[in-house]
Amino acid sequence: MNNIIVYCETNGNSVAEVSLELVTKARSLANQLKIDVEGILIGNNLNGLEKELFAHGANIVHKAEDPRLEFYQTLPQSSIVCEIIKKEEPQIGLFGATPAGRDLAPRVASALKSGLTADCTSLEIGEHYEKKTDTTYENLLLQIRPAFGGNIVATIINPDTRPQLATVREGVMRKVELETPLKGKVKNWKVDEIVDKKDFVVEIIERHVEEKKVNIKGSQIVVAGGYGVGSKENFDILFELADVLGGEVGGTRAAVDAGYIHHDRQIGQTGVTVRPKLYIACGISGQIQHRAGMMESSMIISINTDSNAPINSIADYVITGDFMDVVPKMIKYYKKNSK
Ligand code: FAD
Repeated sequence: MNNIIVYCETNGNSVAEVSLELVTKARSLANQLKIDVEGILIGNNLNGLEKELFAHGANIVHKAEDPRLEFYQTLPQSSIVCEIIKKEEPQIGLFGATPAGRDLAPRVASALKSGLTADCTSLEIGEHYEKKTDTTYENLLLQIRPAFGGNIVATIINPDTRPQLATVREGVMRKVELETPLKGKVKNWKVDEIVDKKDFVVEIIERHVEEKKVNIKGSQIVVAGGYGVGSKENFDILFELADVLGGEVGGTRAAVDAGYIHHDRQIGQTGVTVRPKLYIACGISGQIQHRAGMMESSMIISINTDSNAPINSIADYVITGDFMDVVPKMIKYYKKNSK
């Protein structure tokens, strides 16, 4: 009762990364509130997947299994999630801002009349003083996200209705396994008792999933280029550096919009969030929307002709100069010194 509940997605035989990131975050929020974390798993053949959730901090896992739930479907999944939330009465509910989460969370929020904050970049526990009624609300979920085109960072609260629902994009929270997995409990739900037959009106016969071609999120070294790189051809030198270092290439939205690099590689608020050990920013000014997706990198090197570029304020090393002069030298000396 009044715990934190996380809707967990599955990728065939494993729990989706974003769901494990959310369970990790839920664990730290729950520790502050001294409550439990509950996970929801819906699908077919979910054998053993609860263990992944216990390892990341869930105390209870709700499972709804049925062959008809092999693939995500809006209507049955919404009925199940709503039913579990109504019975368990969590104070907080978290969803990944994935296609499924973005489909499901608003339906659940609407059915429960609870409100929802989409695409949070940070979640904290805090209080709020309401001047009009002279009321202090304690232990609220502070749902933090960029707003008004990323020009401000807004903290959104939900003082009166429960649960407080939020979606969070993949990669924004860190996924951490506990040293010792929790000895959690599994609660099985009978799908036929919850879902009306007519909710299964759609039969999914086949599903084709296109594998991601790039995995910048999983790379420990990212060489990123911005509008200052100047052309698609100029990006070749960044690909060469990434290749030599064993990293991946990313870009800013301005570089994507200009057609210099594919959208899959966009880093930032409306792209991917990365946390590599090394981030080399070439010709990137460092606007807030870009920084939101890379500022937690362990080490940042900025190469920019403008010594006052905003990215320099968060960089560990600043090289003031043309990337076309600097990057070939990096490649040359790295090759020379790493033999
Ligand atoms: P610019 O700001 O034009 O900077 C280019 C830089 O290159 C300058 O600092 C310049 O000094 C330097 N330069 C020029 N020539 C050279 C050279 N030869 N060598 C070295 N340096 C050179 N942006 C993102 O990146 N990701 C997002 O997810 C994202 N989401 C957004 C969402 C919204 C709602 C909005 C409104 C904006 C978003 N943006 C995003 C856009 C963002 O505001 C910036 O416009 C964008 O990040 C700027 O990209 P840039 O740094 O490549 O380009």
